[in-house]
Amino acid sequence: MLCSGFNVVGFNWLASPVATELESIVMDWMGKMLKLPSSFLFSGTGGGVLHGSTCESLVCTLAAARDKALEKLGGGFDNITKLVVYASDQTHFALQKSAKLIAALTRTSFSTEFSLSPDTVRAAIEDDIKSGHVPLYLCATVGTTGAGAVDPIEELGKIANEYKLWLHIDAAYAGSACICPEYRRYLNGVELADSISLNPHKWFLTNMDCCCLWVKHPSFLVDSLSTESDIMRNRSPASNTSTNAAPVIDYKDWQIPLSRRFKALKLWTVIRKHGYSGLMYHIRSDVSMAKRFEAMVAKDERFEIVVPRKFALVCFRLKPKRESEGSELNRELVDALNGSGRAFLTQAMLDGVYVIRCSIGTTLTQDRHVDDLWKLIQEKADRLLSLQEPEHASR
Ligand SMILES: *Cc1c(COP(=O)(O)O)cnc(C)c1O
Repeated sequence: MLCSGFNVVGFNWLASPVATELESIVMDWMGKMLKLPSSFLFSGTGGGVLHGSTCESLVCTLAAARDKALEKLGGGFDNITKLVVYASDQTHFALQKSAKLIAALTRTSFSTEFSLSPDTVRAAIEDDIKSGHVPLYLCATVGTTGAGAVDPIEELGKIANEYKLWLHIDAAYAGSACICPEYRRYLNGVELADSISLNPHKWFLTNMDCCCLWVKHPSFLVDSLSTESDIMRNRSPASNTSTNAAPVIDYKDWQIPLSRRFKALKLWTVIRKHGYSGLMYHIRSDVSMAKRFEAMVAKDERFEIVVPRKFALVCFRLKPKRESEGSELNRELVDALNGSGRAFLTQAMLDGVYVIRCSIGTTLTQDRHVDDLWKLIQEKADRLLSLQEPEHASR
């Protein structure tokens, strides 16, 4: 409400110094909660910006990586078709969409147990180099959308550094958990990355739209995305010349649009209201509700947990009598649950297995909601299975 009411339009620093300054402060606060190395912070040698979505962060970092690579190759845009982006088959389709916008080839697959396998990425890079391609960008995920899996950042980082690829870490969902010491290890190796993004609008109590992007070399982003216009020149207070005053940030050069909202106010409010310990409490209580749900599912022998849970996402399914009936049975269960209007669950295909995803993460969820959900699931499963019985008996 404050953000809309103030209606700040912060093109550049001068248009709203407070929007810019608060954003850089809040980005450092977030970075410090995540124990990011100082190479990503304004208080160190990097910096961060608030985008609207992970897609935007991917497009902007891809553009920065592309322009650096093309500069090195020489020959202008002609080399663009040689550039290759790597990700796993579990990487969010935001990456494919973004790579398409930047006109780079994407190679996906390379996963075992739903996480990126360093050896297969290395082999693919070697192959591509042999065939005259230029490896550009590797996207690793902390908390994949389907299964909540985590890619091995440290090993991937070594490969990226060895072959000079831009390494981006997409921590859209699970990055929020990494403010807790017990989850921070999933970011080990982050110092080897060039950029990392996280959506506070997913699991950090912040309203849409809010995506944190940190980069090691802000100048790479700015080189790619900056535009010069007389309208948007910052006037140095010390002099009367209209040249850009040196040390201010113009966030218009860190993102796709020129105009921007006062998004930092949302994240500032969340951090000030809950505090570091309150935010850790939020993450931990969601995880403990997910554990509670997982335990109830595991105790019912008609169900199974398909993927080991890492965060507050539980991937489960109703065990089919025959494997070939698994997808249909669970699709019917999801339809019945969502059709009830009392819960909303999504599904994913993991290695050809249809799984139901129960994700806990909104502001007001309590144990009783989780218990109600489990009761509803059992009711719907009872009905589905009892409808199936006579049919099975007659076969
Ligand atoms: C949700 C999600 C995205 C998509 O984010 P947008 O902000 O909608 O672009 C990307 N990656 C992961 C891992 C996600 O969970």
